[in-house]
Formats: sequence, C-alpha cells, structure tokens
Amino acid sequence: MESVGRLAGGIAHDFNNMLQAILGHAELALNQVDPFHLIHADLIEIHHAAERSANLTRQLLAFASKQTIAPKLLDLNQIVEGTLKMLGRLIGEEIEPVWIPGKDLWLVYIDPSQIDQISANLCVNARDAISGTGKITIETGNAIFDDNYCEQHYGYIPGEYVLLSVSDNGCGMDQKTIAHVFEPFFTTKGFGKGTGLGMSTVYGIVKQNNGFINVYSEPGKGTTIKIYLPRFKKESEPIQVGTPKVGLTRGRETILLVEDDQAILKMTEKMLKQLGYQILTAQTPKEAINIAQKYTNNIHLLITDVVMPDMSGPELTERLLTIFPNIKVLFMSGYTANVIAHQGVLDEGVHFIQKPF
Ligand code: ADP
Ligand code: MG
Repeated sequence: MESVGRLAGGIAHDFNNMLQAILGHAELALNQVDPFHLIHADLIEIHHAAERSANLTRQLLAFASKQTIAPKLLDLNQIVEGTLKMLGRLIGEEIEPVWIPGKDLWLVYIDPSQIDQISANLCVNARDAISGTGKITIETGNAIFDDNYCEQHYGYIPGEYVLLSVSDNGCGMDQKTIAHVFEPFFTTKGFGKGTGLGMSTVYGIVKQNNGFINVYSEPGKGTTIKIYLPRFKKESEPIQVGTPKVGLTRGRETILLVEDDQAILKMTEKMLKQLGYQILTAQTPKEAINIAQKYTNNIHLLITDVVMPDMSGPELTERLLTIFPNIKVLFMSGYTANVIAHQGVLDEGVHFIQKPF
C-alpha cells in the first residue's frame, strides 16, 4: 500500500500539472472558437479526455488514501439526500432507488466530496450488477461494536460508527471475486467496460477516514456493502461551514500569482485576467517577494504553488504577510504536500485548490 501510495503521489504531482495545462488551454481556446467551427468539437474531445485522465489520477490518489481533503462536520443523511438526484441519473429508470435514512444519526467528520465518490462508485457497481429491473437500497444508521462483538465477527473494529450501506439485488459475487474486490484495476467487466478503480477508491477513502468496510455477497443473491465511518466526538465542535454555490463572478482585485511551471503560470494569468483581475506573476518565491516589496498598491490575494525549489508556499506566505498583513492566500497543487496538510487533511484555515482546475 505504501509503495503504491508513493507511486501514485509521484505520478499525480507531475501529471496533474500537465493536465492543468491541457485543460486550461483547451478552455481558453474554446472561448475563442465559434461553436459551429469544426475545431470546436475537437477541442471538446481534448477537454473530455483530459478530464477523464484527471479522474484517473484522482482515483489513484484516493486508493492511496492521499486525496487532499477538507473534512467537515456532516450529517450523512443530508449529504446522501443531496446526491439522490445525481444517483438516480446514474442508475437509470429500470432500477428503483430506495432510501432509508437512519434516525438521530450521529455526525461524521469527513470531506463531503468523498461521500459523493463513495456513493457514486457503489451505486454504479450495483447498477452494473443488475440486468433489467432491480432495486438499490441506500441505508444509514448508528452502530456500536464492543470488543466482545468484534472478537466474534471478523472484520469489525470496536467503536462507535455511522453506517452507510448500499445493497442491490443483482448478480452478486463469488468468494474469489470478493477476495480481490478492493485491488486497484481488478475488474470482471471485460476490457473497456470496467476500470477496476471503483472499489479501490472507496477502500482508500474509508481507510483515510479511519473507517472500515464489509462486503456481503453471494452469487445470485445480490450484494450489500457496509461502510462504517467513525462517529465524530469532541466537546469543541468545529464551526459548520456551508458550501455556498456562486456563479462565475468577476473581480478587479490584485492577485500575485506564483508558480514555477511557466506554462501553468502563463495560462492561469490569462484566465484570471479574462475575469478582470489585476495579475502580478512570479516564477519563484524570491521574485514574488521582490515584486511585493516594490509594488505600491495593495495586493489582495496570493495564489501560490505549494512545493517550489527555494521556498515553500507557506514560507512565502509568512514573508509576504510582513509586507501585506491582510493578504489572503490560496494554495494550489497537484498533490498534497505535508507543509499544508497532514495525512492529506488540510491544516485549519488553509485554502487549497487541487490541480487540475
Ligand atoms: P469496475 O466496476 O470498474 O469493474 P470496481 O472496483 O468498482 O471496478 O469493482 C470491481 C469488481 O467487483 C467488479 O468488476 C465486480 O466484479 C465486483 N463488484 C463490485 N461491486 C459489485 C456488486 N454490487 N455486485 C456484483 N459485483 C460487484
Ligand atoms: Mg465500479
């Protein structure tokens, strides 16, 4: 697991930088081309392919439990309810979704996008297991396992958990399939159909959040996947942060953009300029400090890469705060570096955007 994690992280960093350039330039080009022009369709294809690739690196990082996450205090019922529409579209009209929310559900501390990834992957698998009509049941509930119970039930870890369960009445799995189900790239769906990354993604996410998974399945009898996430317990509860959905806004503020990859620097500059911002660019932290020292107006926001040759993003931030005490900071990276996150969990108050964006 550790080696795969290192491998995934290594690939993800460089790969996400390149994908950032591909996606960004495709988008910039799309803005300049008439939708009826032949090139428009080609650009859309490039964009799709890059998005699919980005999804692949995201899944690899997930399997390695190395996604950058911003956990929030959540009611799973609320999150699942919010995704039911999307799940309905995924499973199609032949299959009946059944939603059984648990009562007085305990809270969990997890990144909501990871719940989306889990439920989407499990529902797609359930859909694929059903030929024709069928039923997919999503259930939540509280669960306590004591030492006694765990000694008698293989695969359980003592503690208090919130359960998320997805069941289907599809084809089920034999013992051999169950034994391999969490391995990355393990699939029974044939070439070009399955990627074999769904269950490994779920596994990595659950592990990153200190939970565990159980699989119940028999050929012809359907499948139930049970995910147990630790109950959130702490006296001082973190403030619940909502996720306001805002449309594309424009700005006039000044942004200092720091990125050692020149292609990405140029492209991001272009994009932000199109949105109306004043942009100062620097390819190294030293250059950024120089610019800041000479700049006579206010700089409102620093957008900076995290890992750079001579100084890290957080170190640069500290230096700039001495010049502009009110500057806001957004970190960008293709891969979480420990300087802003621990085990992938972002440090309190850190703002981060994952490349490619
Ligand atoms: P993929 O769906 O791309 O094949 P996954 O990692 O999501 O990859 O699943 C791996 C394999 O596990 C599947 O190919 C399938 O054989 C089996 N599987 C997973 N979920 C189910 C399910 N609900 N019912 C039957 N088989 C399943
Ligand atoms: Mg799958």
